[in-house]
Amino acid sequence: MVAEQVDVVVVGAGLAGLVTARQLTRGGRSVRVVEARDRVGGRTYDRVLDDGTRVELGGQWIGPTQDRIAALAAELGLPTFPTYNQGENLLDLAGRQKRYKGAIPMINPVVMADVGQAQARIERLARRVPLDAPWDDPRADVLDSQTVETWIRRNVASRPARDLLRLGVQAVFAAEARDISLLHFLFYVHAGTSFDSLLSTARGAQEQRFLDGPQEVSVRMAAELGDAVWLEAPVRSIRQDDHGVAVTTDRGEVLGAYAVVAVPPTLAGRISYDPLLPAARDQLTQRMPMGSVIKVHVRYDEPFWRGDGLTGQATSDRGAVRVTFDNSPSDGSSGTLLAFIEGAEARHWSAQDPADRHRVVIADLVRYFGRRAGNYAEIVEQDWSTEEWTRGCYGAHLAPGVWTAYGPALRTPCGRIHWAGTETASVWTGYLDGAVRSGERAASDLTALLGATSAPGSAP
Ligand SMILES: Cc1cc2nc3c(=O)[nH]c(=O)nc-3n(C[C@H](O)[C@H](O)[C@H](O)COP(=O)(O)OP(=O)(O)OC[C@H]3O[C@@H](n4cnc5c(N)ncnc54)[C@H](O)[C@@H]3O)c2cc1C
Repeated sequence: MVAEQVDVVVVGAGLAGLVTARQLTRGGRSVRVVEARDRVGGRTYDRVLDDGTRVELGGQWIGPTQDRIAALAAELGLPTFPTYNQGENLLDLAGRQKRYKGAIPMINPVVMADVGQAQARIERLARRVPLDAPWDDPRADVLDSQTVETWIRRNVASRPARDLLRLGVQAVFAAEARDISLLHFLFYVHAGTSFDSLLSTARGAQEQRFLDGPQEVSVRMAAELGDAVWLEAPVRSIRQDDHGVAVTTDRGEVLGAYAVVAVPPTLAGRISYDPLLPAARDQLTQRMPMGSVIKVHVRYDEPFWRGDGLTGQATSDRGAVRVTFDNSPSDGSSGTLLAFIEGAEARHWSAQDPADRHRVVIADLVRYFGRRAGNYAEIVEQDWSTEEWTRGCYGAHLAPGVWTAYGPALRTPCGRIHWAGTETASVWTGYLDGAVRSGERAASDLTALLGATSAPGSAP
């Protein structure tokens, strides 16, 4: 067992932790990053398929106004390319399939008017939620006392319109509308500019992919940090006193002046703290569950749906797979369909036999794209709820009552322990961009503090 002393111990080598460490190192501070897994990147994780195609098993897209991840990728020399989006999308709603162009499906005008009105109200309400303090919204009490589902039932008249909105919520949160506080939903929408932008490919959050895969952003930062990153070093406990912190990992103890914990809140809540954290912080981490998603890639010899004039984007109100995308390589040399199993469907299918799960995935793809979808070369899935060091995705969501009762505990440091990670971001929270922003914020907070205290902390 070793014990060493640094300025800042960073827990977690996802984007947030690595950005924190990189910025502090560049400012002349010493850091040690301790990561539980045997790899960096956290919720970004790429895999090479049998034919050499690289696919993104975790976070993958970036879009307009996600400036911090875009700037970081550019600085690291990592180009992006547009998500394949040519042709028509498919909507499978109430047992009928329609093809449509652009973001808005051309179904019954009454339904579309209903959806349009609801969306306009959502955007209006969202714009008022203060990004740094959602609990300060003048209507926070009312908004945080209901779920998105309750709001949909009260405010949206037609059944297909309700189903479309529920689908939108599932696609964004990998959770059901009934799981999520309306205040949290509105905050999230505001943090990502608009509901429309969260749902869109062109000019939206799904616009661009990374040519070398998104995990490469973390791999390159970790390479810069070199020996400062310890893998396979899960943090079990953090002690602190007036002089510093002692972070205990499976690879030994690290002493520092401060710690930045850059992991999802539910995982931060599984670390032991001595002394105990304030009750509000502990209770908060008991109340920030992760969504449920199984991301499935199905590879074909060619992207055959393109020849049929389809983008590969399908949305449905039934089946295990309700959202799909074309995730083929940038040159289209082979075809890959990305099938999302989200929310309640993911919870159900996570517990089933993989062979049964694959059968329903393929059956859903055949329903959307025809018989050729049954003739696949390879299928690869990633169930994020079963990952010990993530425990669900895409990120955490808040149920009613959490923002208003515990919100300030999300970012407030607890003594020498600071918090980062996409869940702590106030812009693009839940996204790659939010993770980068949270790391930048943590690093500048720590730089200010360390500037005020010249020497590295001594052991508690
Ligand atoms: C399937 C999926 C699809 C997504 N799609 C998109 C998308 O298209 N676009 C987008 O912008 N975002 C997307 N996201 C979200 C995005 O991936 C995350 O917001 C972002 O990667 C979070 O980064 P982070 O550094 O905050 O957290 P993480 O990536 O979770 O990093 C935390 C790190 O801490 C480690 N850790 C946890 N506990 C401990 C411990 N006790 N000790 C030591 N280490 C620990 C973990 O192993 C991990 O490496 C998606 C996520 C998933 C899973």
